[in-house]
Amino acid sequence: MLVVEKYGGSSVATIEKIKDIAAHLAERKKQGDQIVVVASAMGKTTNQLIEESKQVSGKVHPRELDALLALGEGKTVPLLAMAVQDLGVDAISLTGIQIGLKATSRHQRAQIKHIDATRIKRHLDEGKIVVVAGFQGTNDEGDVVTLGRGGSDTSAVALAAILQCPCEIYTDVNGLYSVDPRKYPDAKKLDTASYDLVMEMANQGSKVMEPRSVEIAKKYNVHLYIGQSLYPKPKYGTIVMDNQLALEDKVISGISINENVSMITVRNIPSGGDTTCRIFNLINQYEINVDMINQSIGINNNLVLSFSCNKDDVHLVDKMVKENPGIFAPLTVDKQNDLVKLSLVGVGMASHFGVAARVFNALDKVNVHFYHITTSEITISVTIDAAKLGDAVPVLAAEFNL
Ligand code: ASP
Ligand code: MG
Repeated sequence: MLVVEKYGGSSVATIEKIKDIAAHLAERKKQGDQIVVVASAMGKTTNQLIEESKQVSGKVHPRELDALLALGEGKTVPLLAMAVQDLGVDAISLTGIQIGLKATSRHQRAQIKHIDATRIKRHLDEGKIVVVAGFQGTNDEGDVVTLGRGGSDTSAVALAAILQCPCEIYTDVNGLYSVDPRKYPDAKKLDTASYDLVMEMANQGSKVMEPRSVEIAKKYNVHLYIGQSLYPKPKYGTIVMDNQLALEDKVISGISINENVSMITVRNIPSGGDTTCRIFNLINQYEINVDMINQSIGINNNLVLSFSCNKDDVHLVDKMVKENPGIFAPLTVDKQNDLVKLSLVGVGMASHFGVAARVFNALDKVNVHFYHITTSEITISVTIDAAKLGDAVPVLAAEFNL
């Protein structure tokens, strides 16, 4: 069978690990499978490259940064291909440019537009294992762009969609858990999960898969398997499937923890004016990724607007406030960085009521204050003090049997 196997940074963190994966690939090839491997940068390489760029310059250089970041994956793939070749199995490494991955021009957050699978198919027909650098492509200009953090997942799933084959995502945990096992060791592993559940958990901050990759998997019906590298038997991991098949009869299937949340509160907004509207136009213009939004009426009938964003985007908020005194000078802007967002996700929630009450009561029982609340059909999210995370997670996990 034809398969795309994807290895995350921790799975290829050392030369030893690369050799172990090469051994597994060579073995699988000998058993008759055709394999496209998508690999991430080794270990924390991407973070290190970002750090180095900051040491060189205090400014942002989006184009040059992408040229730099692509080198991370660019290093893994030839090493892996060499290791496979040394085991007597033919392999070839290809970068994003070489597989013709065309993406939008937005540096650091480009979206895949097209992949030309001709070359990959040719090498597969020649009997080679094709080792592809994830996370990278080129824009219309021909410049290197990257697909956003975690973007190797997106490359892998998109390749599987085009090649019409299953995609196996290998990481350092053996599948998807109801709660991050590093935060809550008693968390249960999910043997199956629906695309919607995985997508929502990813969107809400669970780091197992990049959200957009799950969206692509759902759209193109890519069979997904999430498992631990070098344990390639499906029984160990999580199989992601259509909603109807996943049998998620629980009200809540998992909790996503997002520790990367900043809450911005803007006070003294005159009511009846168009200030909120203008603020959101600016948020859009500065490309600030907003998540939770709340507006209420404060003292003197003035409005209080709060919104959450990724901590990494706070510098954009600062920039926006500083560059637009016409709007912000009369207002007070506060930032809170010591919060985490807990999102309880369950496809079964849509048909149950009383979930919110159970969440609030459970938190109240252990004296955890909750601030901002948002809900959707399958999610209820609350922000709490970061320091209270250790109290909140066990009590919620117990309440919903996670
Ligand atoms: N190396 C990139 C990152 O660290 C892409 C990936 O690992 O998926 O975000
Ligand atoms: Mg990843």
